[in-house]
Amino acid sequence: MKAKKSLGQNFLIDDNIIQKIAKEIPAFSNDLILEIGPGRGALTKHLTSKDTNYLAFEIDQDLKPILTTYENDKAHIIYEDILKADLNKYLRAITYNKLYIVGNLPYYITTPILEKIIASNLVLESLIIMVQKEVGLRFMAQPNSKDYGYFTLYLKYFYDIEKVCDVSRKAFWPVPKVESMVLKLSPRKNKINLDIEEYQQFLKTCFKQKRKTLKNNLQAYDWPKINAILMVNNYTENVRAEELPENILIEIFKNLKKEEI
Ligand code: SAM
Repeated sequence: MKAKKSLGQNFLIDDNIIQKIAKEIPAFSNDLILEIGPGRGALTKHLTSKDTNYLAFEIDQDLKPILTTYENDKAHIIYEDILKADLNKYLRAITYNKLYIVGNLPYYITTPILEKIIASNLVLESLIIMVQKEVGLRFMAQPNSKDYGYFTLYLKYFYDIEKVCDVSRKAFWPVPKVESMVLKLSPRKNKINLDIEEYQQFLKTCFKQKRKTLKNNLQAYDWPKINAILMVNNYTENVRAEELPENILIEIFKNLKKEEI
């Protein structure tokens, strides 16, 4: 069977990496593992051997003959586009304790999948995902690096992110053009209570033109108020959003009036 490039099909063939991912999911029999894009079952084989509840979404019906072999009373595969699936509906039908999501995702839908998981408000134990290396660096970026931006902070609001391992191109068949990494996202325990839609909009505005100063990007806002927070924290008027850590951006956000966002 040919791999379908249009569906981002680069199948994992490195057993060492497969084991490392499986090890990150210490699921018990009353937990649930949700796999996105099981493909030819490289991970599925390990995940379904744990006697845990297992549910997968795979868009490609042609993989059915291979994947069917992993199905059992507790393991089911839905042939549906993960981006269109009503996740809450499927999850409500299963009784489980902890939820783990895992996926070697097609890279072109990494961000939409994460946005969907966030929007679904699932109570998660952790999310283990394979991403393109550059994207992983962006997700984990710290202030003052070129990778630090709106999406870094948006994800950080929800998750603590750590790298599980780097993954060489040779770990896949067919061999992709890019290097990869596996990330573990764990819901933040000390999540700050904010209006997330307003905060998201604020972050987008802060980083609208990355090379410009915060002052330039936040022209529509009460600058003296923002500036006062910057001064107290030893930043100058010319600071750019990419230099500011999360706590300062949140402090500025909280101090702006709702109607200003
Ligand atoms: N997990 C397998 C592995 O590690 O070998 C396959 C990984 S492959 C990079 C991505 C898989 O996601 C493919 O099987 C592909 O058909 C599936 N896929 C692509 N788009 C999808 C979507 N929108 N919803 C669900 N599955 C999708």
